[in-house]
Formats: sequence, structure tokens, C-alpha cells
Amino acid sequence: MKLSRILSNQDGTSRKSANALIAAGRVTVNDLPCRGAAQEVDRFSSVAVDGEVIQAADTPCYLMLHKPAGYLSATVDSVHPTVLDLISPDLHRDLHIAGRLDRSSTGLLILTNDGQWSRQLTEPRIKIPKVYRVTTADPISEETAERFAEGLWFEYEQLRTSPAQLEQLGEREARVTIYEGRYHQIKRMFHRVGNRVTALHRERMGELKLQGDLKPGTYRPLTAQEIDSVR
Ligand code: URA
Repeated sequence: MKLSRILSNQDGTSRKSANALIAAGRVTVNDLPCRGAAQEVDRFSSVAVDGEVIQAADTPCYLMLHKPAGYLSATVDSVHPTVLDLISPDLHRDLHIAGRLDRSSTGLLILTNDGQWSRQLTEPRIKIPKVYRVTTADPISEETAERFAEGLWFEYEQLRTSPAQLEQLGEREARVTIYEGRYHQIKRMFHRVGNRVTALHRERMGELKLQGDLKPGTYRPLTAQEIDSVR
């Protein structure tokens, strides 16, 4: 958000007086003189006028969770347990999910309170690879990899999926890489080729790989290197 907007969101401060405060050099961002009314300031920065803090800096939070089956990728639900039930309440801090998994799916789930950062992982146009291990009801046919690579027409969205890769691991098992995260995407892709997904586990999103010894239902903060890999 622009600095002038943050100031003018304060009670009784008009856009004009916000700009006047900025021009008079009375505003600091993270204890440094601000760069002007158009300076972009996120929730992780502090803003002060004459040394008085009007926006305290939030603490950014980035978590990797090993999602177990049976938990909803949501923050609240009146029927099912949600993934937030697995996270210590003192870490909740407006967390959202960067790329949901279905209730029955397992594996890598990223939670954060940094919306700008998470968009880099989830925006279809950014084409981050998402890697899944898939088990199917029927043997995976020879043409499946080819059909996935060509892209499949999704009637509801009126679009063709980006080319996806399928590596066959067994008669009914494959590793599939997609570059979007559309609703039930993998299940719908297999449905389109006449098969059915019986288990789905996300192994990786971009450089973020589910840590092998992270038990289902447990989580850890991302490392600085992992956070930077998404920027
Ligand atoms: N595709 C699906 O169909 N389900 C998931 O949970 C993730 C990707």
C-alpha cells in the first residue's frame, strides 16, 4: 500500500494533510526518513509520524506443513478439522494457505501471512512446478503422458491446461508435474483420460521440497534460503 494511503487511513487525516506530513519530513518507515508519498509499504514495515508509531511492523511467518489426509486446506470450518488446527495458536497471525490440497490429499503445504510472497507460488502465469505422487485406480495407459503434455481442455474454465509431465513409477503410480493449481486439477486430468486418482501426495513446489523426516501433521519454519527461492 502507498505510504500516503496508510497515513490517510488514520482517523482524521486527509490525503492532503498526509502528503503535507510526508513533505515536511515528519514521517519515517522502519526508522528511516520516508522516500515520498508513493513509497510502497507492506505490513512488515513500521511507520511513524514525529516518532510516534502509527503502524507497527508485523512479523512475517512462513511454514512448511506435512498435511495429513482428513484435514481441510482452510482456516476455519464448522465440520472438518482444518490445517490450522495443527499449528500452534501463537503462530496463527493471519496465516493463509499458498496452494491448497484437497482434504484427502497429503504432503507439502505452505502457510504464510505474506500475501505478496505467496502469490509468486500460486499465480498460474508464474509457472512454478508443482510435483505430485499419484496413485490411480486403474493401470496408467500409455497415452496418458502424451495427453498431459498436450494439455487438456477444461470446459468449466474454458482453458487448456499447461503442458504437464508424467513420469511412470509403477503400473498405477506416477510422478506428475503441473505448472498451475486449478481446482482438483490432477484428479480432473486423470478423469479426462478415463482413470481415477486414489491417493495424491505433493512432494514439491518450486524449490520448496517436503522435508523427508517431517512427520504427517507436523511443520517447521522455512529457512531464509527457502523463503528467498520464491522471491
Ligand atoms: N490436484 C488435485 O486434484 N487435488 C489436490 O489436492 C492437488 C492437486
